[in-house]
Amino acid sequence: MAPTIDDYDLGHTLGEGSFGSVILCTHRASGKKYAVKVIEVVHAQRHNGIAQVIQEKKVLIMLDHPSIIKLHSTFKDADSLYIVLEYCSGGELFGHIKRLGSCHISCARWLTAELVNVLEYIHGRRVLHRDLKPENILLDDLGHVKLVDFGSSKRLDVEDDVPKFVGTAQYVSPEVLNDADASEASDLWALACIVFQMLSGEPPFAAPVEYAIFKKIEERDFAFPSDGFPPRARELVDAMLQLEPDARLGAPACGGYAALKAHPFFTDDVEAPIDFASVHLSPPPPLVPPPPMPEIAGDAVLNGQLAEHELSAADRANLIERQAGTRWAQPLDDGEVRSSRLERTNAVAPDFPHSHRHQIPTSHGPHPHAYRCSSWRRSRSSGATCR
Ligand code: ATP
Repeated sequence: MAPTIDDYDLGHTLGEGSFGSVILCTHRASGKKYAVKVIEVVHAQRHNGIAQVIQEKKVLIMLDHPSIIKLHSTFKDADSLYIVLEYCSGGELFGHIKRLGSCHISCARWLTAELVNVLEYIHGRRVLHRDLKPENILLDDLGHVKLVDFGSSKRLDVEDDVPKFVGTAQYVSPEVLNDADASEASDLWALACIVFQMLSGEPPFAAPVEYAIFKKIEERDFAFPSDGFPPRARELVDAMLQLEPDARLGAPACGGYAALKAHPFFTDDVEAPIDFASVHLSPPPPLVPPPPMPEIAGDAVLNGQLAEHELSAADRANLIERQAGTRWAQPLDDGEVRSSRLERTNAVAPDFPHSHRHQIPTSHGPHPHAYRCSSWRRSRSSGATCR
């Protein structure tokens, strides 16, 4: 018999998408849990979203990687389309960054390595994700990465009729903003934004309105947190956030994945250099915030008030650690640790769930603040925002 939604016990909502919800379901016969994406046909049709659903299905069938969510089955009824996915219980990376304030360098490095592996895999299969963001990066029960949401993806090996201007404002690359085709380098731009966000708590290009975000992206107007950012991570982000796609570390024209994996961000930690071949097999480091920055007399050295040789051995060690960028977070009064670097902006549309923050619509997208690339250019010349 053909599968139906009645084969499942419906649990709670795991997340919201443009055309419906993702619901935790238990398959009655097997007792197995799945995440079922329920797409309302009428709603999806109204916004030409069916093509996106079909694209997600086609691409997920093609892909088989430990860091990509597995497609179990699909079916439909009169009202809805159903995509049954492997259930990922560890939540969105977005929620973890919010909870922690920022991530310890060891987990940021590990998750970045898993993301590099999965991007290398999909790009090797001529697929671009085009909507990489912390909301679309789930963690499994062990803390490994599972990439979701291939609805905006594009295959480079076939002539598919997918829209050009897709993504989410904070992570979109300058070339996509300027109407050029996305490439592997566009996903690498988004990855660099995510590395920055894991270590600072905020994406590099943040502003209350999309127009301002886009302007910042085009001008490469971002700043590393003034109270510290691990130097190797800084070099990595700097090398990847290049306006020119071919100049981005990891892009085919810039050494490809071999060059990216050889960056000191991954290799410099003598105790635990990243082994890309085994990251998905070994237990990831615990997902914790960076340790609080200790009050040290080293500050006085940095301020020029004390000579380094006047420090105690412990303070000198703390100073070295701080200069190496392995301790940089500020403790809060209540003992919680958060990043204090960038201004937190009220970037979330109040009537929209966070997974839609500034999501750039596809040509058919349903976002209430939707506008396309052409309107971005028009508004830029008129100086108005795109609302
Ligand atoms: P969008 O409109 O952003 O394209 P979408 O309809 O394609 O959304 P997804 O982004 O795939 O939906 O999923 C929405 C949210 O549901 C995710 O951000 C995540 O929180 C949750 N989710 C999706 N798939 C799973 C899964 N396999 N396991 C657990 N949660 C999931």
